[in-house]
Amino acid sequence: MARLPYPLSAWAIVDESYSILSSNESWKMYDGLEFDENFLKSISEQRARHAELFLSASRRPRRLFIKCVADVSESKKTPLSLELDKARSEKVVSKKKRFRGRPVSWKSWRQFNARADPKSRKRVYDDLVKKTPLIRPIIRATFEKSWSVHKQYGTTPLRSYLESERITLPELKMLVQKLGSAVRKPFREALSHYSREIKKAPAEYYDDFYYFRGRIFRPLDKIFSKFDPAEMPIRQLKRLGFDTRKISVDVEDRPKKTPSAVAFFVQIPNDARVLVKPISPYTDMESSYHEFGHAMHCISVDPNLALWDRESLSHGVAEIFSTFMETLVEEPRYLRKKFGLSEKQIREIVERRRFMELFFVAFYAANSLMKISFQEKKLTMDQASDLYAKLYKEYVGFEIPGEYWQLHHVMPDYDLYSPSYLIAAVRKSELIKKLGNRLGEDWWDSPKAGDYLKKIMSPGANIDLDGFSRLDTGPFLKPLVNPDL
Ligand SMILES: [Zn+2]
Repeated sequence: MARLPYPLSAWAIVDESYSILSSNESWKMYDGLEFDENFLKSISEQRARHAELFLSASRRPRRLFIKCVADVSESKKTPLSLELDKARSEKVVSKKKRFRGRPVSWKSWRQFNARADPKSRKRVYDDLVKKTPLIRPIIRATFEKSWSVHKQYGTTPLRSYLESERITLPELKMLVQKLGSAVRKPFREALSHYSREIKKAPAEYYDDFYYFRGRIFRPLDKIFSKFDPAEMPIRQLKRLGFDTRKISVDVEDRPKKTPSAVAFFVQIPNDARVLVKPISPYTDMESSYHEFGHAMHCISVDPNLALWDRESLSHGVAEIFSTFMETLVEEPRYLRKKFGLSEKQIREIVERRRFMELFFVAFYAANSLMKISFQEKKLTMDQASDLYAKLYKEYVGFEIPGEYWQLHHVMPDYDLYSPSYLIAAVRKSELIKKLGNRLGEDWWDSPKAGDYLKKIMSPGANIDLDGFSRLDTGPFLKPLVNPDL
């Protein structure tokens, strides 16, 4: 093996510099601002070469090895990701309907979905799915790239994933199936209830998760439009004693801005950026709390840790803190105290959030099981779509064109990711239970809760998960399945 021409600490400084420049440029792209595509591509090439320099010299520390393989893979996928992003706004477009004067594209269809009538939505859904052959080769090439890079270093994306999530493959499958099966019946009951209310008709295949999410909180729009989604989560983090000056937020609407809210960890722990694209007042608040949870995580990591212990935050860990913050906007006492909601309004939120949570579990059970098999068996695109259609029918309950997964904002972009949402949901509920037991019902007003959270988050990738989580599904599932107990 070759030797590094300088100490590992020097290697890490350069690596972090590339990562900062690259996230800063990607942030512009996601925010719908002017960005320099060639700069992004060239930084990615440099970054891949720099990671390869380490890999040619060492396989230890193990966490850095995994990070470098992932970074080489991500960097080499950059031209494809850029192409996919462009295709999503320029090719995955339905000329059948317009949104704000432009044909509906993948990037505006959530907003369109929240407003259009069923007939128009069906036409656009069918039309967008029909456009997936235009992005399919890009998506395929993305996965192939990741497989070949991992293979070169004697690993697979699935193996790296399981290792960083600290879970075995059988455990993961069992967890996902357990959650998906548990919600099947209550989800379908709630779905038929709310589609009757919202659509005045039974739900159909094109009434997807994002349709309901954009519509269901409409009765609460008026009250939530009085609050600023860029302000409320900041106040909350301040209450817990966090230094929010390291977080910036943008809730402006721009046509090219990414449709799903997102948080960028430009530099851990000193620069976190939140993006929220307005869809509807309650949903925007919810998304903003979620992304501020990510930002809270970013700024809480100990700056003195080695780069790989600061940066290697698994998705399953990251989503604990985002969903943790998000849960506040369904907490009755919190809604009463911070938003001044009436008992009736609170009940509306609790019931509607419960439905969306059931939908989330059903949808992500299908998403996760497809991606796990996809990675485990290296399925072809057709096999993946067939399996997706089968799983969607099983867990969500509708016959859909299986290619729908290719339109999702996470499914085609990451090796896995989807199962992490479910792992995190379970751990988040265990964490909240623990905080409640320690500090009482109004724990969110206590700086002690902030101290406890900081203690959990500051070790970065060395997080002590066992300190608050045993992957006990009870605290998460019970209120979903039996809300009246
Ligand atoms: Zn998230």
